[in-house]
Amino acid sequence: MDEIIRAVTADGYAKISAISGRSIVESARKIHGLSPVASAALGRTLCACSMLGDLLKEKDATVTLRINGGGPIGNVIAVSDNSGNVRGYVQNPHIDLPLKQNGKLDVGGAVGVNGTLTVSRDLGLKEPYIGSTALVSGEIAEDLTYYFVESEQVGTACGLGVLVDTDLSIRCAGGFIVSLLPGAPVSLIDTIEGNIAKMGQVTDILQNGTAEDLIDHVLSGLEPETLSCKSVEYRCYCSRERILRALKSIGSEALGEIAESGENAEINCHFCNKTYIFTPDEIRNILAQTE
Ligand SMILES: [Zn+2]
Repeated sequence: MDEIIRAVTADGYAKISAISGRSIVESARKIHGLSPVASAALGRTLCACSMLGDLLKEKDATVTLRINGGGPIGNVIAVSDNSGNVRGYVQNPHIDLPLKQNGKLDVGGAVGVNGTLTVSRDLGLKEPYIGSTALVSGEIAEDLTYYFVESEQVGTACGLGVLVDTDLSIRCAGGFIVSLLPGAPVSLIDTIEGNIAKMGQVTDILQNGTAEDLIDHVLSGLEPETLSCKSVEYRCYCSRERILRALKSIGSEALGEIAESGENAEINCHFCNKTYIFTPDEIRNILAQTE
């Protein structure tokens, strides 16, 4: 079971979210037929987005994490609801790259560094709140850390990891985001940085551990107190009604062309790969309603 745990240090100056997200990333892999490097890139993004979604308080709020680095994988997109249930896709799910010299999947090479990381929070207001920063490495955790510091002025440390097994299934996945509150003492920052340097890779811990173990490592010696613990999953909200609404918005001219073609319109959900079929008669009906 995937879960997000939130905790705070005893002094109240550092908050952490940690996720174990193996099932989420495995679902994404099966839906999209992700290659190992695509599993790692989308998996890290899904885990991060889920933690950001879990922090939203407003009803029906969503957060979208979009990374476009100009690399061969194309755009990487994840969307979370306000409970951390997340969905996502990459433009080129089958991309294959040689491993890096250290034997790791080359996520930075797949994503690229010529572009931006964008966080868009839709809180149900007229306009979403959007922040964006240049990519640092395309490895995603570093890019997100830079985003928080530069765009939201929040001292942040972030670790994300996906371990792909020899049969290409997801062995483990997850990560953490620590944010420092204003006035956090330097000694606290030093302790957290030291803990992160000592703990090794996120996946080293998650292979035999949980989100709670991640928190115990990152906040070692700081007496973390658990605030919440929630189970999360890969969840798409598409439906025939939603697709229908989207169809209506493309305009009568485009709809007319589809109707006249005499063929079924097949509309594919990018997030869950479900196909919705509309017959020419149905398209004509939609057309009649839009006019
Ligand atoms: Zn869907």
